[in-house]
Amino acid sequence: MPKYIFITGGVVSALGKGIAAAAIGALLEAKGLRVTIQKLDPYINVDPGTLSPFEHGEVFVTDDGCETDLDLGHYERFTHLRASVVNNYTTGRIYFNVITKERRGDYLGDTVQVVPHITDEIKEAIKSAASDEYDINIVEIGGTVGDIESLPFLEAIRQFRYHVGKENVLYVHLTLVPYIKTAGELKTKPTQHSVNELREIGIQPDLLLCRTERPLPPEMKRKIAIHCNLDPDAVIAAMDVSTVYEVPLSFMEEGLDKLIEKKLALNLREPDVEIWNQVVERIKNPKYECSIAIVGKYVNLKDSYKSLEEALIHGGIANNARVNLEWVDSEAIETHGVEHHLSEVDGILVPGGFGSRGIEGKIAAVQYAREKKIPYFGICLGMQLAVIEFGRHVCGLSANSTEFDVKVKDPLIYLMESWYNHRSGKIEERTADSQMGGTMRLGAYPAVLIEGTHAFKAYGAKEISERHRHRYEFNNKYRELLTSKGLVISGLSPDHELVEIIELRDHPWFLGCQFHPEFKSRPTEPHPLFSAFVGAAIREKRELFQ
Ligand code: GLN
Repeated sequence: MPKYIFITGGVVSALGKGIAAAAIGALLEAKGLRVTIQKLDPYINVDPGTLSPFEHGEVFVTDDGCETDLDLGHYERFTHLRASVVNNYTTGRIYFNVITKERRGDYLGDTVQVVPHITDEIKEAIKSAASDEYDINIVEIGGTVGDIESLPFLEAIRQFRYHVGKENVLYVHLTLVPYIKTAGELKTKPTQHSVNELREIGIQPDLLLCRTERPLPPEMKRKIAIHCNLDPDAVIAAMDVSTVYEVPLSFMEEGLDKLIEKKLALNLREPDVEIWNQVVERIKNPKYECSIAIVGKYVNLKDSYKSLEEALIHGGIANNARVNLEWVDSEAIETHGVEHHLSEVDGILVPGGFGSRGIEGKIAAVQYAREKKIPYFGICLGMQLAVIEFGRHVCGLSANSTEFDVKVKDPLIYLMESWYNHRSGKIEERTADSQMGGTMRLGAYPAVLIEGTHAFKAYGAKEISERHRHRYEFNNKYRELLTSKGLVISGLSPDHELVEIIELRDHPWFLGCQFHPEFKSRPTEPHPLFSAFVGAAIREKRELFQ
């Protein structure tokens, strides 16, 4: 049976619970354990797919096509986990399941209540991720202790220890120890209050992770320990670090792995963190440098492109390079012109997106990259716009996507009426209704690559699998015309019906993919397309210096 580590947060939000959960996962994997990580989110949306990236950050997509919280991206980047539908539950999904059961008559006339029905459903959800494949299930509870919304989750994890036994459950609480400049002191009161609040609902944390910008002196740890009913060694300083990939190492220095081992009665080897040392060393002391412009819509909220940002850092790791990101609002390009924003950069990336805002600015960025021969990477929408730009300016078409202009003369990107779904093995039909929502192509689909292309060279493989999240596709009616003018189709669905990757014949590195490669990149295994793109951007720079 797996053991459970529950992670709660207190004092304020945004302390980095997701990173903490992921880093603990990395550290336990380094000690030879098999780890899964789960996020329980207190909001009522059934899944985060409909949440605005402005408010909630990126929607992370799993292989099995779930739209999940961005913390699952951290879990996958720090550990070997490939998350699925069991790794993210929201209050909405829990209630939805309970109400579905109630409608079916499963409760046989019981009065359906938060306790026990909702809490039982939560406990089932927690167990659903913890199969025999894993030694540890780390469960992150979203929100902050004291929120009304997270109470049923806290009650469920309180009961959990009762069911599975003390030695199988560990409660970790993440708090803040702020440094008050005017007093010149670190303050422990918020931590004490937060732990009190947790204890009031019956949870005594086993260890505290204290976020702090300064080292926590031993007397400070002792003070927290006495007030919170803990051993001083159970108070761990989670110091600010310069890269998130240093967090597993900093936890190890604080003895967190030994503590978890002791508290969960495990007998493990010393952690092998060589790979994390290498990752951190490469990030901190790179040999090269390049700047990449990300031309998007949500550039003021970096969390909207979290996986993308990380994947570019990974591309840098693969090339021993620091990648400086320039966030460019595509509407600003429409106002100030493309030169103003892009003349200094080594690479241009147009990420995924929905809706027509800022589209023409993005197309201008694509045209600039194509004409000036600057390395270009288009992801999902960025690939579709690269096709449209090529159609307009090279083939003289009146081109657009029907997403932005339903009546366009040359719909280069459009909604297919039906397509073969390689995951379900079925033909998917699109009804007028489903065009509004429903039938997005979501999750992992296979693709075959064409030899001799940049894509083939980057992957070094003929068959790949990548995650999708889109509705519109390349219109095959235009394949012949576009390829005759120099567009290269380098990746296709196995039946050759769907275009997955495009490139340009006369360009150093110009690639657009219909999928989201950023979701599968890890610091320890940078994604081949990001490595190749960053590599191309640096090569350009080296040539300039020669
Ligand atoms: N809006 C486009 C589509 O639905 C692209 C989506 C995306 O970039 N993820 O096809």
